[in-house]
Amino acid sequence: NEELMINSEKLYVAGQLAAGIAHEIRNPLTSLKGFLQLIASGRKNNSSYYDIMNAELDRIEDIVSELLMLSKPQVYDLAYQDMRVMMRDTVTLLETQANLHNISIEAEYGTDPLWIYGVENQVKQVFINVIKNAIEAMIDGGAIRIKLSRESDGVYVRIRDEGPGIDDDQLAKMGQPFYTTKERGTGLGLMVSYKIVDNHQGKIDVKSQLGIGTLFEIMLPFRYPDTAIKKSS
Ligand code: ADP
Ligand code: MG
Repeated sequence: NEELMINSEKLYVAGQLAAGIAHEIRNPLTSLKGFLQLIASGRKNNSSYYDIMNAELDRIEDIVSELLMLSKPQVYDLAYQDMRVMMRDTVTLLETQANLHNISIEAEYGTDPLWIYGVENQVKQVFINVIKNAIEAMIDGGAIRIKLSRESDGVYVRIRDEGPGIDDDQLAKMGQPFYTTKERGTGLGLMVSYKIVDNHQGKIDVKSQLGIGTLFEIMLPFRYPDTAIKKSS
């Protein structure tokens, strides 16, 4: 029956994800073990190993912290949030990094509060992931344009970059666990972002034109703080 199908499909996806995680974490672990053995064998000039070991530990840390975001929001973490405030915080956080890469971030927040009901850290994480990808895509610099608006029942966040764009093959793979085209990528940012938006009953849409850039459109349901109806997640 249908429920059984859905459950076995979920188990399959969970299995795939677990296999991917195990693989991605085993590689840096194996390398760490190797370096530890080298150090234990009493070789001199160990210090050159420490940078590599540190990088491997960073990688494990990145993977684990992104995966932590996959946990469902807990009821006590849910609160009314103004998307403009969350986006302002995110832009402040990423501006220095953008400027270092000759990238400006231009954001239009509008004049009215854009309320949603959600988990602040998770929604900010979605903004961070998408804007970071934009920064990483724009190797020649340029502008990232962000626009927030309310359209009927949804709060829309549109993030446009002037990167190389994404072809259809790549577009289809984006959001799959561990899909990355970057040397130091985890390939988890978008999967985690899609999951967070889904947990918030929202939507993410990507439109891209090769040689022109990419647009990420994130929609979360508008929820006015005064309404007594609280959505149980
Ligand atoms: P990561 O950033 O670690 O590679 P993500 O899940 O964040 O993992 O992104 C997956 C892939 O999607 C990236 O490696 C890149 O190829 C592609 N991508 C995402 N955002 C953009 C963008 N704005 N422009 C071009 N490619 C992008
Ligand atoms: Mg990323």
